[in-house]
Amino acid sequence: MSFSEGRIDFFYGGDNTAVMRKFVYMIILLTAAFTGCRQQTIEVEDAVMEAAQEEEPLLLHPSFNLTEEDLAELCSELPGTVRQNIEARPQYFLQLLLDIYKGEQELVRLVNKEQGLSSSDVPHDLVALDDYRDRLLLSRRGHQMRSVLLPSLMAMTQAARQEGIDLMISSTYRSYDYQEGLYNRYVERDGREAADRYSARPGKSQHQLGTAVDFGSIDESFAATAAGMWLKENAWHYGFSLSYPQGMESYTGYMWESWHYRYIGEDASKLEQEFFEGIQERMLRFINSKGSLLEAALI
Ligand SMILES: [Zn+2]
Repeated sequence: MSFSEGRIDFFYGGDNTAVMRKFVYMIILLTAAFTGCRQQTIEVEDAVMEAAQEEEPLLLHPSFNLTEEDLAELCSELPGTVRQNIEARPQYFLQLLLDIYKGEQELVRLVNKEQGLSSSDVPHDLVALDDYRDRLLLSRRGHQMRSVLLPSLMAMTQAARQEGIDLMISSTYRSYDYQEGLYNRYVERDGREAADRYSARPGKSQHQLGTAVDFGSIDESFAATAAGMWLKENAWHYGFSLSYPQGMESYTGYMWESWHYRYIGEDASKLEQEFFEGIQERMLRFINSKGSLLEAALI
């Protein structure tokens, strides 16, 4: 290759922006060479470098190789209101997701009418709540739950008590077999269609996870009680989330259950509250379906 061809490559290789940048850079160098003005060269060189950096797509979070466009693609199936929340604070959104994926995945495992647990799935850290009778209000003896949520449940119980509100724990861990018996009794009583609106089939209950808690009366009257209203306002601060909110039956598959909360951890409950409009099912579907894509984007 001759010298002149090389020069042509230098000016015309690459896209138009790159060509322009090279052209400007050459002019600067030539000007500097003729004027001998070194300071000016440095300043203009800096300006050229800054311009070049601006053209690099900006990453939204230091731990993810994700641009604004990538994140928009990742969230494209979410409702517009949720996407707006994410667009307003993308870094905070990704930070919460990072913390959730670093934490215990079982806490955000999706269990719904489609995805469930097997008859052999039993939590490894079940504890008897009778041992904590002095700090929890229990409807009866024999309740069990995972130890991972005990500190949060006790802190929440204490916070409510300080405001004169008692949080009665009425139902906690249920084994696959127990749920099977319960569901079959409901079907016998009300028929399968009616039972499916308020009771999970065996293997499809969040109670089998050992992290779901039913409070108070376990019926519609609970929503209007002081405990029901307090939980609605405050439970998320302690990592608890209302699983089946009002008006969401067509989406969650269950009637409004003002008494049924699931412990998902504080990072997830913040994510749900601040980005997913308090819809646990929507957030868990997102977390569970996009996990591998987000993991692949980790830096
Ligand atoms: Zn429940």
